[in-house]
Amino acid sequence: MKLFDPHIHMTSRTTDDYQAMAKAGIVAIVEPAFWVGQPRTHVGSFEDYFLSLLGWERFRASQFGIKHFCTLGMNPKEANNAELAEGVLGLLPKYLEKDGVVAVGEIGYDDLTEAEDAMFKEQIVLAMEADLPILIHTPHRDKKRGTERTLAVVKEMGIAPERVLIDHNTEETLPLTLDSGCWAGHSIYPETKMDEARMVQLVKRYGAERIIVNSAADWGVSDPLKVPKTVAAMREAGIPDQQIETIVWHNPVNFFAQSGRLEGIESSSSVDQRKLWEGNSVLRGQQPVVRQ
Ligand SMILES: [Zn+2]
Repeated sequence: MKLFDPHIHMTSRTTDDYQAMAKAGIVAIVEPAFWVGQPRTHVGSFEDYFLSLLGWERFRASQFGIKHFCTLGMNPKEANNAELAEGVLGLLPKYLEKDGVVAVGEIGYDDLTEAEDAMFKEQIVLAMEADLPILIHTPHRDKKRGTERTLAVVKEMGIAPERVLIDHNTEETLPLTLDSGCWAGHSIYPETKMDEARMVQLVKRYGAERIIVNSAADWGVSDPLKVPKTVAAMREAGIPDQQIETIVWHNPVNFFAQSGRLEGIESSSSVDQRKLWEGNSVLRGQQPVVRQ
């Protein structure tokens, strides 16, 4: 079974992670633009970050046989820096046109401030203009209220719910998200927020329709193999393979295909580590792997 991790921040991960992910069956990923752990102070830092998601990181994934796509946007946390946020908003239209950009995201709320609210709405408009779906981060604190507010804004802005992926759902928010007609992402973390066993219970109760799982692995305590580990837990619990495949392949493919930029997603990836990206290789003198 081919696996898709539709939310993972590979910029913060190592080549060991790429190797382990490929070995576990992950063939495609989406890397959302997000907060990097420390506030950025220049608009140019965002521009270079967007360029690295479109360039170097995409190349790095390809060197391990993984297809890399990204979402671009102003994350909710840094949306609270008004000057910076305006500057990034100005950059976005040009970058949203690039190959490999499959949604606007991650956008939404962190602390439910007015500045976050304004930036969220402006980016929904940008997504509609660019004809892209949106990936929405829901806050870790005050999650239920944050999700209700998010769904109200989605409705108010008039973006079609089938073009909206609400991420980081829990037992409390999933019924709200499913009722809205939006897609429901779940981030499977070590010990907190959502784990494999709880995800199994949610699938048993709600089925597979519009359900998506991801690792959301980043620079914090997280695990880039949570999608394959959730597959193993679902199998062990007797969930049929067809339903599992819907969750870890067909659903993310169908959601992000709305961007029109997933062509070739079903074909197998070749690996050619003799290739360079702007003169640079992922190798340190090792023998390059070449596989058709
Ligand atoms: Zn994220």
